[in-house]
Amino acid sequence: MTLKLKEIIKVLENWAPKSDAEDFDNVGLQVGDPEQDIEKALVTLDITDEVVNQAIEENAHLIITFHPLIFKGLKQLSGKNRIERLVVKAIQHNIALYAIHTNLDAQLDGVNGMIAERLGLEDCKILIPKTEDLFKLKFFVPHMDAEKVKDAIFSTGAGTIGNYAECSFNTEGYGTFKPIKGANPTLGTLDQRHEEPETKVEILIQQKEINNVLSMMKSAHPYEEVAYDLIPLKNENQTKGMGQIGKLKEPMAAESFLKLVKNQLTTTCVRHSDLIHKKIEKVAILGGSGAFAISPAKMAGADAFVTADLKYHDFFLAENGILLCDVGHFESEQYTKNLITRYLSEIFPNFAILTSDINTNPVNYYI
Ligand SMILES: [Zn+2]
Repeated sequence: MTLKLKEIIKVLENWAPKSDAEDFDNVGLQVGDPEQDIEKALVTLDITDEVVNQAIEENAHLIITFHPLIFKGLKQLSGKNRIERLVVKAIQHNIALYAIHTNLDAQLDGVNGMIAERLGLEDCKILIPKTEDLFKLKFFVPHMDAEKVKDAIFSTGAGTIGNYAECSFNTEGYGTFKPIKGANPTLGTLDQRHEEPETKVEILIQQKEINNVLSMMKSAHPYEEVAYDLIPLKNENQTKGMGQIGKLKEPMAAESFLKLVKNQLTTTCVRHSDLIHKKIEKVAILGGSGAFAISPAKMAGADAFVTADLKYHDFFLAENGILLCDVGHFESEQYTKNLITRYLSEIFPNFAILTSDINTNPVNYYI
């Protein structure tokens, strides 16, 4: 099965919109033409020489990577460092490079969803929810057309709060307007103020839904000029953000928990703070560098926090109240490859997607 690169990108960005990425990040298509035909994709955590060689051998003209190869602007492509060399090599072999990184971290079913699944955590919630991602849409519509316009908006999936779909608040009133020269009014007469019984509808929408929702609203609305307000909110988005917190099915002793983490996340070792004496039940997780989330994890009442890249002084923050576990950066994120492959395979069951088995961890352990 052949897909256009842009079809694959659309699916990935529907799952993890680029707007969900952190400011420092550089996600999306880094090398390639969206119109390019792709017959096989290779999924990796990092792009290395070995990974590009594997793509060449396998005839995979797309590499989907978790960590972006290009972070900062490139001024030359002369091959003087690893990044330039690999970009040149990819271009020479007509291989597109696509990065899905902190935008995937932010999703409930993203990087941390995979860690939660492997550790057997239940009832997972976002540890540090995103703010400024939600908007309130208010619009005014004649009574008789209110349901039709709401149906159009709800058909996009907007208006969902947690497990409740089609949420709206409606108030009845009346609007006034005077069509003037050049108008082609659905209701009212030229140069006369018209009063119309209208419904004010309020719906909560996400940033990524804005364009779609506004175009559906305008096409279903009877008026030539639709009156609406789009207001940014400071509410927390409970489905997006950094890290997650969930519960183990059965509480367990700290040592048993470390064993579970070591086995399920396939780590050589787990660096951890002092063993705590209470049972571990509530567990916070954050794939990749997570020292910044130690306080939020403690505040959320986590008994343990599984993450990576903790420094010496970070371990002192445990203060016998939480078990801090550093499993290694690569180790904490390694199953993201499988997650991306699984997601794409469900949507494109006949498309060839290969999970690279190359270990791209730049850190080695001498034991
Ligand atoms: Zn990472």
